[in-house]
Amino acid sequence: MPELLFEKGVKGSNAFTLPPSELPADTGEFSLPAEHLRDLPPAIPELSEVEVVRHYMGLSHLAYGVDDGMYPLGSCTMKYNPKINEWAARLPGFADIHPLQPENSVQGAMAMLYELEGMLNEIGGMDRFTLQPAAGAHGEFVGIRIIRAYHMHRDDDKRTVILVPDSAHGTNPATASAAGFKMVEVKSDPLGMVDMDDLKHKLNDEVAGLMLTNPNTLGLFEKNIVEIARLVHEAGGLLYYDGANLNAVMGVSRPGDMGFDIVHYNLHKTFATPHGGGGPGSGPVGVKAFLADFLPRPTVELGEDGKYFFDYDHPLSIGKVKSFYGNFGVMVKAYAYIKALGAEGIKDACVQAVLNANYLRHHLADTYDIPYNVLCKHEFVATARRQLEESHISTMDIAKRLIDYGYHPPTVYFPLIVKEAMMLEPTETESRERLDEFIAVMKNIAREAKETPDIVHAAPTRTIIGRVDEVTAARHPVLSYQEEKQA
Ligand SMILES: *Cc1c(COP(=O)(O)O)cnc(C)c1O
Repeated sequence: MPELLFEKGVKGSNAFTLPPSELPADTGEFSLPAEHLRDLPPAIPELSEVEVVRHYMGLSHLAYGVDDGMYPLGSCTMKYNPKINEWAARLPGFADIHPLQPENSVQGAMAMLYELEGMLNEIGGMDRFTLQPAAGAHGEFVGIRIIRAYHMHRDDDKRTVILVPDSAHGTNPATASAAGFKMVEVKSDPLGMVDMDDLKHKLNDEVAGLMLTNPNTLGLFEKNIVEIARLVHEAGGLLYYDGANLNAVMGVSRPGDMGFDIVHYNLHKTFATPHGGGGPGSGPVGVKAFLADFLPRPTVELGEDGKYFFDYDHPLSIGKVKSFYGNFGVMVKAYAYIKALGAEGIKDACVQAVLNANYLRHHLADTYDIPYNVLCKHEFVATARRQLEESHISTMDIAKRLIDYGYHPPTVYFPLIVKEAMMLEPTETESRERLDEFIAVMKNIAREAKETPDIVHAAPTRTIIGRVDEVTAARHPVLSYQEEKQA
């Protein structure tokens, strides 16, 4: 384990020196009240500048990202993020403005927001978007609050249920509960689609809406989507699209045309913003026109005088969901990405992502069990079922062994409906050569599982930490430095 900054600190070290203060320590009536003053100075590590720089540089070398290599983490769309997006986000006209500046001094930034909304509308077949939500899960929350506002506005207060398929991303049921709804699960059929009989059985006048990802987390396009939309609407519910998997359909088909009333996108997945390290995201929410009044305020509008303005006049709005206007820098990156690709490029990226996933699926099918071995979209699910039966090598073992070969592992043990699941999403940014290398490594690991299983069990061997005790880490997380333990 590398030392923590606290452990490296040497009392008296300093990164800078300031001249002594000329102000008196006691500023009379402006002094902080004594009861709010600390007894002891805070326990902050003391280090020189070079020590701090080397510490963080060392940590950065231990990390792995899409700039290091392939990152086939299913459902997360870890595509390469073109550097021109960073350039655009750092332009002084975007990076150096303040959200409280008068509107007439930030017309360019507002034009960007306005145009981005227009592009998102077109890509999804929706009518209006809010850019405020800070992530996918936040977008889901906004969408479900809009569903609630819509039903309440119609005095239909018996709709307390949100339907969620059993293949859904974990954020969907969590969102439904957090927004105050009862979550009811809809089963998948043997082909991985929504079980239509189960859906019909669970639809009634208490259902506020259905949350759906299409393609679903198995990477499969929901064939019955038009029929599902009809059934949900007939029952008086709304259809919510979890668009985190939009990479699989963008430029080719549109959730708005499939019958969805509300969607969210993950700009930080589909539209190329670095993510996964806890950086800011963006989960814009789009609606059909009949729901536009419920969107968070303000909206960005273009006045007849050709000037952009923030419109707060939305009495039915669910309110504000984020400080100011959302994570602006992420929006600039998405804007730059969409502009750079253009309509044809967006479609090409989608088609290439789907081709890459199918290429991997095809070449791994004789080595790994693939429960739904049919044409997939952007991702597919393989399992370690064969390896587990033959050599007691699990999905977790294979994931850890991939680290030794220099890859980030796929998403594992998800979706929950597949045992020993490995969810692989190569994205469009891997070349055929890189995919071939990855396939060779996956086959090699399968061979090791048979011939030298101990090596696979022992993985990872090239990282500073081997296997962690994940149960303890989840049940008793230690999330802050505990000084007394170190003393
Ligand atoms: C990533 C993802 C989410 C959640 O998005 P966050 O930005 O991480 O909150 C929701 N649904 C699906 C299908 C996803 O892949």
